[in-house]
Amino acid sequence: MTKEEEIPDWVGAQEFYDKYDPKEILGRGVSSVVRRCVDKRTSQEYAVKIIDITLSDKTTPQEIEEIRDSTVKEIDILKKVFGQENIIQLKDCYESNAFYFLVFDLMRRGELFDYLTEKVTLSEKETRKIMRALLEVVQFLHDQHIVHRDLKPENILLDDEMNIKLTDFGFAVQIQSGQKLKEVCGTPVYLAPEIIECSMDSEHDGYGTAVDIWSAGVIMYTLLAGSPPFWHRKQMLMLRMILAGSYDFSSPEWEDRSDTVKDLISRMLVVDPKKRYSVIDALNHPFFSQYVVHEVRQFSPYRKFKVICMTVLASMRIYCNYRRAKPVTKEVMKSDPYALKPIRKLIDACAFKIYGHWVKKGQTQNRAALFENTSKAILLSMAADSDGPVHPLW
Ligand code: ADP
Ligand code: MG
Repeated sequence: MTKEEEIPDWVGAQEFYDKYDPKEILGRGVSSVVRRCVDKRTSQEYAVKIIDITLSDKTTPQEIEEIRDSTVKEIDILKKVFGQENIIQLKDCYESNAFYFLVFDLMRRGELFDYLTEKVTLSEKETRKIMRALLEVVQFLHDQHIVHRDLKPENILLDDEMNIKLTDFGFAVQIQSGQKLKEVCGTPVYLAPEIIECSMDSEHDGYGTAVDIWSAGVIMYTLLAGSPPFWHRKQMLMLRMILAGSYDFSSPEWEDRSDTVKDLISRMLVVDPKKRYSVIDALNHPFFSQYVVHEVRQFSPYRKFKVICMTVLASMRIYCNYRRAKPVTKEVMKSDPYALKPIRKLIDACAFKIYGHWVKKGQTQNRAALFENTSKAILLSMAADSDGPVHPLW
């Protein structure tokens, strides 16, 4: 008896529809659609990721087999990581010949990507909270030799208390200690240089868990600057920027940022994976120990003197800055509006609103299109025209 005969097409699907009522679409991926759904018995709301494994004009049997395999792996990893507080919890799953249904806790606040689009940039304080939680998740994964391979703000969801939940383990893989990977997959903006190198050199040693640290560095930069460190309209040029590790902190958003935060980012965005920070190094960086208020029981005279000096210096600096501040006149507004921080924020917010709306037009466009990059397994042909597109396998 073949597998098809054993499992009638409707079994898993029927069980799902008996238990849940599917509602509106929350998001879309390459081969999946995520909908809000309601448990008919308890009225509890969830999110269901429905993965289509039916043959169509657009998919070949080999592609269907790949989607099926990767979904089985995704479910397996989701079960392994169950229980970590900042990872989305898989509640239930069903399988039929046509679909997989993966039921998750519903994250009403949606993606970190949308939150960033709305806020334009985040403060260091908010970035610290998000990045600490994200790196703790990465540490949890790397301790089990699991590489996520698709860390990006679209795959980080927010719960009602604005805590992050990492999702989309579609590219996640568990490796043996020291094992190297060669498969080229991920989302171009967040791709580590060694993954791109693998696509260009069949003799390459491969890559490991360090690729997640690179992506986390790209996320951290993006949260603070509002745009990613490596970006070019032409994908091949962007990949070259990544390979050269060529980025800077020159945009106006970085003026107010601390050296500590820039230091941490620059240690995560190191091209050589051996010299790149590990997740433990990153979590131990002073950026995460700042502003932890320890109870100070008594001040020594020296400390008292230091505090007084610092207060006097700070007051003088505030006074000098106040005297130096130019009034916001019509002329300044007309000649260089972008130089004024509140106006700059307003312009950026408007630009993001328009751009965000434009890229999300219709249901078929993925949100990652804001940076014109969606998750996919990619084959990079550097031999091809240098400015040409990356050839997608999927
Ligand atoms: P894909 O592998 O196709 O990218 P994801 O698992 O990343 O699928 O889900 C696609 C999108 O669906 C997410 O980026 C998000 O917008 C939305 N989504 C996924 N899971 C949930 C959830 N539990 N709650 C709310 N929205 C979700
Ligand atoms: Mg995704």
